[in-house]
Amino acid sequence: MEQFVADTLKDHNLRTTTCRTEVLGTFLNKEVALSHGDLEGALGDQFDRVTIYRTLKTFLEKGIIHKVLDDEGVRYALCKDRCTEHDHHHDHIHFKCTNCGQTNCLENVHIPAVQLPDGYRANELNLLIQGRCPECVA
Ligand SMILES: [Zn+2]
Ligand SMILES: [Zn+2]
Ligand SMILES: [Zn+2]
Repeated sequence: MEQFVADTLKDHNLRTTTCRTEVLGTFLNKEVALSHGDLEGALGDQFDRVTIYRTLKTFLEKGIIHKVLDDEGVRYALCKDRCTEHDHHHDHIHFKCTNCGQTNCLENVHIPAVQLPDGYRANELNLLIQGRCPECVA
């Protein structure tokens, strides 16, 4: 995994820093969408808020992570599609489990086409479905 983290940073022309490595490693480990607070919790106090914030911002801009809007605010998840700098192209659904509170990308479920009125142009789509995840249904 360390190699994967290093390669991902390199592919996106990012210098390796401890914070970038740790944040990316945390996303890979958890496999769910994480908020700023989740990351702070996972990383302890090795980094201050601003450093984590900047790292998230850089990852967003570089197409490494994308925003996941849920009812408690913004979370972030790894981009599995081929996103590039300033060009995210996701149309998958996010699912929040109201029982365990985890939010996941459903990469294979796409947001249905939405017809916007004349003059409106979409550049980001977000659809959150809430319910129970397979682990909580059982
Ligand atoms: Zn993306
Ligand atoms: Zn659940
Ligand atoms: Zn997603």
